[in-house]
Amino acid sequence: MEKLIYLDNAATTKTAPEVVEAMLPYFTEHYGNPSSIYQFAAANKEVIDKSREKIAGMLGAKREEIYFTAGGSESDNWALIAAAEAYAGKGKHIITSKIEHHAILHTCEYLEKKGYEVTYLDVDEEGMVSPEQLRASIREDTILISVMFANNEIGTIQPIGELGEIAHEHGILFHTDAVQAFGHVPIDVDSLHIDMLSASGHKFNGPKGIGFLYIRKGVKIRSFIHGGAQERKRRAGTENVPGIVGIGVAAERAARTMEERTRKEKELRDYMISRIESEIPYCRLNGDRTRRLPNNVNFSFRFVEGESLLIMLDMKGICASSGSACTSGSLDPSHVLLAIGLPHEIAHGSLRMTLSEEISREDADYVVDALKEIVGTLRNMSPLYEDFMKKKQA
Ligand SMILES: *Cc1c(COP(=O)(O)O)cnc(C)c1O
Repeated sequence: MEKLIYLDNAATTKTAPEVVEAMLPYFTEHYGNPSSIYQFAAANKEVIDKSREKIAGMLGAKREEIYFTAGGSESDNWALIAAAEAYAGKGKHIITSKIEHHAILHTCEYLEKKGYEVTYLDVDEEGMVSPEQLRASIREDTILISVMFANNEIGTIQPIGELGEIAHEHGILFHTDAVQAFGHVPIDVDSLHIDMLSASGHKFNGPKGIGFLYIRKGVKIRSFIHGGAQERKRRAGTENVPGIVGIGVAAERAARTMEERTRKEKELRDYMISRIESEIPYCRLNGDRTRRLPNNVNFSFRFVEGESLLIMLDMKGICASSGSACTSGSLDPSHVLLAIGLPHEIAHGSLRMTLSEEISREDADYVVDALKEIVGTLRNMSPLYEDFMKKKQA
């Protein structure tokens, strides 16, 4: 087999074999609809609740506070839209940050069209939201604050407990998009003052198309999908039993392996960062150096175009991601890189590599060696770099 080094675990992860194995019988043997009355199918109800319990346990939550959805995007949409509607009588102001995932940002834009007002908090150069700025942005009519736990591009982990505490001091609902964090960093919803939390199975070695929304007991929130009585009447539709089994096993596995896995990832992350910084000139680490996801490496390289970098890495069997939104046909650099203050031309030369436990030190060396060579090649082709070097020597 050709070499394949997968460094795009923020986009999606490999479904763990034990997860697939646990799911299979629920396609072919235990395929009954959990709402049916006969034993054959009704047993699946218990299976669903077992998964709910595993996830709740990881968050310090109660079983009945976990609602299964079709993934992170749905959980984010549900949390924002349904909370906005339920609390509209109190006010129509929402606070979020400039570096959220589009599942949050585009939902906020939708709500703005529906008459809500949204404040988008700035972040500092490391991508950190300021608790003081949050406090200053709160108004009489603020009903919801939503700040992501950890950023999917630059890996910065927010001071969630502090932000949640400020929200609660003012009696405001606090939601966090924890899609990048759940299964990768410990989360306790009580001590962090979280009222709602979104997560997605395929970001922690579970299946795609299944996620959950944690909703604290007592939070007024409307149902999002109307129909049958599933998920305590809040999210209709025949349960995705194999997916729910899979996400439960993936959560359990993530909890069990978290300490060892993230220790290994952090070590490799910091090794790659230090090699890149010392061996490739004119680069910049994006995101906070220590308060960052264990598996995130994100750099900008001056005089380099991110897309070319990705294509040349791909030719060497390396899967990574750039910081631009070029995939959508637009040439705008990512909103996250612009929010941390990178000029367009530097943001364009960005590269995100997100590791997994399967990456070895040899792989990391191979990647950094390749990167060094490719950055050199691309710079040698760049007129801007030529000008820069001429001026430097003059
Ligand atoms: C991947 C991701 C999402 C979307 O999750 P899906 O399950 O793909 O819908 C939302 N927020 C963040 C931070 C993500 O990384």
